[in-house]
Amino acid sequence: MTCAECGAEVGKSAELGAYTCSECGMAHCPHCGARPADECAHLLAWQAPDTDTGWFEAYPFHREPPVLPEEYEAVEWSGEDYEAAFGGLGANVDYIVGAYANGLVSPPSETQLFDIAVDALSLDAQAVVWEQDWMGAAGATLWFSKDADGARESLDTWLGKLAEGFLVLTQRGAERLAAG
Ligand SMILES: [Zn+2]
Ligand SMILES: [Zn+2]
Repeated sequence: MTCAECGAEVGKSAELGAYTCSECGMAHCPHCGARPADECAHLLAWQAPDTDTGWFEAYPFHREPPVLPEEYEAVEWSGEDYEAAFGGLGANVDYIVGAYANGLVSPPSETQLFDIAVDALSLDAQAVVWEQDWMGAAGATLWFSKDADGARESLDTWLGKLAEGFLVLTQRGAERLAAG
């Protein structure tokens, strides 16, 4: 593959990975060779370099991850609650809860949730690091999938199941809140 940006050969670089140009740092789609700005049909997600913020430049989800209503902040959840709610998601329940670092009433780290879902679904999603220093893009991670639309649909279904888990907690929590 030749770099679409600088023309250098994009080869296997142990440091950067096979689809990042070792000359200019531009990331390329493993399936069609496009650059991130070309927005090829395979681009599934694009994570900004500051991973602490947990946000995406290209959003992999169709829907917002679920949260609990604010009044549920007072409810104490047990491991059994979490298992009942999230046990069927094919992921480590602790990881899911961990993505909600500020509690289940606050939005989760979407990048963490994405990682968990990709793993749980064994999605075809190849990570490519973009090392080019362009508008602060250095260090961004992009995920490409042969079937990005299909992957997005799978993620959507998974988030739907996650939302069902939140419904389970809503019901359990309501009983406890009512009991005072
Ligand atoms: Zn290049
Ligand atoms: Zn592509």
